[in-house]
Amino acid sequence: MRAYIINPIQKIFFEGRVYDIEPANGFGGFCDCGGIMSQRGWVDNWLMVAECESCWKVEAFLYDDYRFVERFEVKVLALKDFLNEILTGSEFEALIQKANGANYSYNSFSRAKRKLEEMNLRLEDILKYLRGTQLP
Ligand SMILES: [Zn+2]
Repeated sequence: MRAYIINPIQKIFFEGRVYDIEPANGFGGFCDCGGIMSQRGWVDNWLMVAECESCWKVEAFLYDDYRFVERFEVKVLALKDFLNEILTGSEFEALIQKANGANYSYNSFSRAKRKLEEMNLRLEDILKYLRGTQLP
């Protein structure tokens, strides 16, 4: 999967970086199932996210200089599941432990912090959503 929408922070992960989605309304094209898609939002003017009103499939439409390039399916993930997917087990664990005020591995935590910052995610924004999250 090339792109994920991260709930509840309303950002999209696309090719290694995370971007804000500006909410939008309106017609978003037709789905493979024949349903009508409605726009969910835009990343500047180069990526439009739309959701099918019939099957709820979410797709991204990529543009280059206002010219349509391609569309592809986007998976919607809860923040916790997204982090579990992109971090190693020990990095993920350190992040959850830090958010809950428990003891954590400083090395794993700094690796997680660096990875998130390289993707353009602010650690403070993430930690507040992870408070209360239990490790599996
Ligand atoms: Zn559909």
